[in-house]
Formats: sequence, C-alpha cells, structure tokens
Amino acid sequence: MTPQRLLILDDDPGVGQTIELIAQAAGLSTLFTQSPAEFFDRVADWCPDYIALDLVMPQMDGVEVLAKLAERHCTAQIIITSGVGHRILDAAGRSAAELGLSIAGILSKPFMPSTLRKLLGDERGEGLGRALHVVGGATGGENISAQDIQAGLRNDEFFTVFQPKIRCRDHAIQGFEALLRWKHSDFGFVPPDAFISAAERYGLIDPLTEHMFDLSFGWFARNFRNSPFRLSVNISARTIMDEAFVAGITRRCESLGIPTDKIIRELTETSAMEDPVRSLSSLTRLRMKGVHLSIDDLGTGFSSLLQLVRLPFSELKVDKSFVISASRSSESRQVIKAIISLGQSLDMQTTAEGVEDAETLRFLEETGCNLAQGFYIARPMVGDDAVRWVHDYQPGAL
Ligand code: C2E
Ligand code: CA
Ligand code: CA
Repeated sequence: MTPQRLLILDDDPGVGQTIELIAQAAGLSTLFTQSPAEFFDRVADWCPDYIALDLVMPQMDGVEVLAKLAERHCTAQIIITSGVGHRILDAAGRSAAELGLSIAGILSKPFMPSTLRKLLGDERGEGLGRALHVVGGATGGENISAQDIQAGLRNDEFFTVFQPKIRCRDHAIQGFEALLRWKHSDFGFVPPDAFISAAERYGLIDPLTEHMFDLSFGWFARNFRNSPFRLSVNISARTIMDEAFVAGITRRCESLGIPTDKIIRELTETSAMEDPVRSLSSLTRLRMKGVHLSIDDLGTGFSSLLQLVRLPFSELKVDKSFVISASRSSESRQVIKAIISLGQSLDMQTTAEGVEDAETLRFLEETGCNLAQGFYIARPMVGDDAVRWVHDYQPGAL
C-alpha cells in the first residue's frame, strides 16, 4: 500500500516541521512548503490525500487559498491550522464546506500531537480512514466532515428521541424534549454534542434544525395534538432568529394544527446573551407569537441578572450538572434552590433536568421546582416507545 500524502502550507517552519514529524510517525509521507506558489504546484503534481493549511500567512491569506483549492476541485481532506480565534476558524470552515471542499477538521495552535494524529485518522488502527469519534476527549466533532452530515441528511440517518417532562408536585406528564440522534451507516451512533458543533462549524446547523422540526413536530402532531403536553426543541446558538425563522415555526405549527404555545424553544444561556440587543427584538417577536422560550443549561454561562430579566423567557432550565449531583452535594442543592427562587420571583417556570434518583425528585418537590426531567423518570425514547410510555405511565409509581 502506498503511504498517504500530506502537504503542509505554513509560514512558520517550526510548525511545519512539527506537523511533518507527527504525520511521518503515523506512516504518512509529507511535503512542507512556505510558498503558496510551490504549494499549488504540489497540489497539482503530487496529489496529496491531506492538506494542512495555515489560515494566516504574510504572502496570502488562507481564505484565498481555500477559494483557489475549490476552483481546482481539490478533493484532499483539508486540516485548517491557525492560532486565530474560534469564530474566525469556524467561519473559514463554513465557507470552505460551502465551496465544496472536504474539511477533515480544525487544528488550533498550539495543538497536541494526538489531535493531529486523530485528524489524520491514525487512532483506530485502521490505517488512515477518518474516524467519527470525538477528538481529544472534547466534544467538538473535529473529525466529522460537512459531506458526512450532508450524506447523513440525504440518507435519512438522523432521527429524534423524546424525553418526558413531569410536574414535580403530582408527577403528571407535561411534555417532551426532542433530542436529535445520528446513526451513521459505518460508524454507528455519533454523540449529539459532536455532530451539532460540527454542523455549526460548517454552516449546516439550519438544515439540521429544519429536519429536526419536521421529525419532531410531525410526531407531536400525530400523537399529542389535542393533549395538554408541550414539545421542547433545542435551538443552536448559531441560528439567526430572523423573520424567516419565526415564520418557519409558525407555518409548521399552522399546517400541522399545533397551537404555537405548545412549543418551547430552548436556547443556551450563553447564546442568548451573546448579542442581547438583537436577541431581545427577535426573541420578543417569537414570544409575541405565543412560542415559549426557555434558558437551557442555566448556571453554566455568564449571564447577568439584568439580561435575564430583560429577555422574554418563560422557563429556566437548571443545568443537569447541579441536578445529577444534588443528592450528594449541598452546594449543588443551594444553586438549585437559588435558581428556583429566581424563577419564582421572575414568574418563570423552572425545570430541573438530570434527575437520576428518587431523592432528588423529592428534594425538587419540596423546593418548589415546577418540572423534572431525567433518567429516573425516563430516558429519551424513539417516538413509538415514548407513546407507549405515556400509555403505561403511572404517576404514583415514582
Ligand atoms: P441538552 O439540551 O442539555 O439536553 C439534555 C441532555 O441531557 C440530553 O443529552 C439527555 O439525554 C441528557 N439527560 C437527560 N436526563 C439525564 C439524566 O438523568 N442524567 C444524565 N446524565 N443525562 C441526562 P443528549 O441527548 O446527549 O444531548 C446533548 C446535547 O446535544 C443537548 O443538551 C443539546 O445541547 C444538544 N442537542 C441535542 N439535540 C439537539 C437538536 O435537535 N438541536 C440542537 N441545536 N442541539 C441539540
Ligand atoms: Ca435542551
Ligand atoms: Ca440542558
């Protein structure tokens, strides 16, 4: 078998040589250049399988190099390397994917040798295929390409599961949170944190969200249109909530006969706070249409109280890290109590997610939390199982 080829363009010879050493140790043959002109010659005559590309170079900027590679219909797996902030890297990754380039991942400098090896597919002992696992123990999904996600959408590999939410006071079912799943034909289940962040990076989160809406709203309308239940859906921090997005939700609800106030959109604390002025106008517009808004993962971001009060949220969702540890950590219980009393004083509903035992559910009841969600009540289930679960459910049994 001929070794796979990695071509490196970087203005820093130290970085270039480090990448070469790591790649050679993984069995690749490598070529390193500092000159864009030579780089394009080698792309043409050496036909690399992988390209490692610095985005910020004195003679030429990396985005221009990407555009030129696209013009030449380059099929190599591209690894973008840089020391710039993640927003810029994300944007570059998105534009490259839109140009039809194949992005193996992003390597932000300084990087760990193991991260590069994984991007080169050298971890599963299967030579140099790409592996859809999470790089470096983080959940960034660096090894997922835009093409993987597009193919997954085309081949209908995404589906939704539903996790019940119950009222703490009497354990009555209040609704479900829809959670997206991906079963890749070769790699099996890919964790949502990994594929969501990959989709965000490639600018593919909107089609994925639309698909999730289609699946989950459809299921909800078929089974629970006339029930008092509500359906919660997750909205990415990257989704721009403009007029068209608002219209998309209301149009779907109308055509399926779901009242808009049956839908709760969960946004993470940080996403809503990133641009509070814009968030304020678009979130208010949605809230006026009846759609509920929930702050997800509360306690993990950096929101100020003032911003919480200004934005038109109707639900606070205590992050599961506090709830999972509530039975053994008095600090976690204090945080939960504080969030619940904040919710009460702001007239917002509170939901605790990550309820894993009876003791925690009892603590939440006593503290006045409104809703609970977690493995102790039910795991996320595929649509048919969730419907069956509702029929078999006995509130007194918990
Ligand atoms: P999230 O919105 O905070 O979702 C709740 C996560 O907590 C789910 O993980 C759920 O399975 C898990 N969970 C629920 N109860 C328990 C419990 O008792 N114990 C423990 N240990 N975990 C519990 P999942 O499904 O892996 O989703 C992870 C994240 O992926 C979600 O966090 C959400 O941020 C994102 N995600 C999932 N589906 C979508 C989607 O359709 N769109 C977007 N934008 N993000 C999604
Ligand atoms: Ca959520
Ligand atoms: Ca959450």
